[in-house]
Order: sequence, then structure tokens, then C-alpha cells
Amino acid sequence: MSSTVAVWQRELAGAVRDPATLVRLLNLPQDAVSVQAAQQFRLLVPHSYLARMKSGDWHDPLLRQVLPLDEELRVVEGFNHDPVGDQNALVADGVLHKYQGRVLLVTTGACAVHCRYCFRRHFPYSESNPVKGEWESALAYLREHTDVREVILSGGDPLTLSDERLASFFSQLQHIPHVIRVRFHTRLPVVLPSRIDAGFQQLLAQLPQQKVMVIHANHAQELAATDVHDALAALRASGVTLLNQAVLLRGVNDTVDAQADLSESLFAQGVMPYYLHLLDRVAGAAHFEVTQAQAVQLLDALRQRLPGFLVPKLVREVAGEKAKMPV
Ligand SMILES: *Cc1c(COP(=O)(O)O)cnc(C)c1O
Ligand code: SF4
Repeated sequence: MSSTVAVWQRELAGAVRDPATLVRLLNLPQDAVSVQAAQQFRLLVPHSYLARMKSGDWHDPLLRQVLPLDEELRVVEGFNHDPVGDQNALVADGVLHKYQGRVLLVTTGACAVHCRYCFRRHFPYSESNPVKGEWESALAYLREHTDVREVILSGGDPLTLSDERLASFFSQLQHIPHVIRVRFHTRLPVVLPSRIDAGFQQLLAQLPQQKVMVIHANHAQELAATDVHDALAALRASGVTLLNQAVLLRGVNDTVDAQADLSESLFAQGVMPYYLHLLDRVAGAAHFEVTQAQAVQLLDALRQRLPGFLVPKLVREVAGEKAKMPV
């Protein structure tokens, strides 16, 4: 495999990181963005994602997800720094074994976009213990635990890793026959679709395991782009089962219309709605919260409107539980 810089890597390096640039590109007033909030959790948005936002619209549902706001600085009771309690499930560097039969690998702390509501906003990335070196500890754990059927590559975002790095993992995974499924948790097909290039497709084609990719789109407008459409089609052609997880976010997708449009758009592109997460109560994200009562009501309305298979499961992550908790 070539070690030259891929197109997607150049695009990622050129992503918008400067608040002043963001507001200029979108024709927004300078004070639309909170510089202080951006210092707490850095702004990061690729141009291809930015291109799907409506210029001059402070309420654009894509912009809301990435725009640093003063509201993030507010201290709100009940919102803390590790709402998911992941650290207790660490069995080795970057290896989380919380649920039966599935092991989740924190492959990297890096993402291609910084979502303001993310519970990782407070993880000091260098200290989040991603899988180290050539995957030895993760592979050793998988080898020893013969009840593990599925390995989940997560992060951060696993598709920010180079093809070389992923190939090194997959080549060794081939020798662990009880792991029959590889799952990716990634936002890149949506926020940086150029990642699904020929090299990556070739990598997928060589994988003997079943392949599942859980993408992360919160709004139909995120899917309304030719490059996203092409990336999802390429993944399906490579034998990947596509699912979507979304987070229920106030001001982004908290209406029946928005959820129905999202499900329809996903299915039109071969992606099944999987989870709709209630917000993790992370400090700085309180302004995104939709109450549980509102969420249940919204799902009831959605069930009346859509075929059952297009209604995502409403869940909440509860520290210490053996599965995502249905709401
Ligand atoms: C969410 C999660 C999984 C996967 O859960 P599913 O319900 O199978 O999608 C596995 N491990 C960890 C640590 C998780 O947080
Ligand atoms: S981990 Fe996922 S939700 Fe969090 S910032 Fe990265 S891409 Fe966004």
C-alpha cells in the first residue's frame, strides 16, 4: 500500500479549526461563535461537511452540532465529566469489555469533526489510553477470550487511522477465528466521505469477517450530498451492513419531521436506523438536552408515522449496565 498522503488526509489537515474562519465562510457575525468555548473544546469541521450548511443561518442543524457557544460554559447540575463511566470497563489499554460477546477498542482519540455534545469533549486525548503500538494488548485480549464474537473499532473515530494502521490490525485479526464480525463506529462517511476511497474499499474486500458499520448522522441534511451518497454506496458494494446511530439534540433533530426525514433519507441510501441516544449528560452540553418525557412522546409519534423498521431504538447509556438501556 502506498504511504503517500491520501486525499482524505489532506482534507482533514485542511479542516476548519479557527472560529473566525468558520463564521466568515458562513457569513455569520463574529460574535456568533464563542472563542472561550472553542478553547475548552477545539472547533473542528471539514469543508465537505461545512458545504452542506446553509450560509447565514445560525440555526442550521449541522452548524449547531459544531458551533462553540457561550452556553457550553454554563455549569449545570447533573452534567459532569465522565457520564458514561467508561473507565471502569477498561480491561487493557484502549480495550473496553462491557457487553457480552463484544469488545470495543478505543483505537484513537482523534475525530474528523468535534461534536459539541460529545461526552469525549473532556477526555484529555493523550491520556484516553487508546490502543497502543501494533495492537498487541488488544489482540492478546481477543485471542484469550474465545467468547468474543465481535470486535468494535471505535474512538475517537477509527477511520481517522491510516489504511496501513488498519491493515496491520486486520492481518492479525484473521488468525483469531472466534471473532466473526468487525464493526466500525464512525462518523467519517458523513463528515469526510472522501475517506471511503479505493484503498479503504480494497481493505474491506479483503476482510474475511462480516462487516458492520454504524455511521452517525443526526439530520437528513447531512446525507444530502453526492459525495456522501457515493461513499455509502461504495460501502454497501464492499459488503458492509450499514446502520445509523443518532443523538437526540434540541435545536437539531428534536421534531417528528426531522426524525422521519432522517430515517427516510437513511433508508434511501441503504442505511438502517439503529439507535437514537438520549444525550449523555456531559458538562457543556446541557443546552442540547431533550427531556426523557419529550423523547418518548416524539418516538410515539414517529411510530405512527413510519414503518416499524424505520423507527430507531431510543436508548440511554447507563454506567455499569450490561447493555444500552431502552427508554
Ligand atoms: C455501545 C457499546 C457497545 C455496543 O453495543 P450494542 O448494543 O451492541 O450496539 C459495546 N461495547 C461498549 C463499551 C459500548 O459502549
Ligand atoms: S467521538 Fe463521535 S460524537 Fe464525539 S466528537 Fe468524535 S465524531 Fe463527534
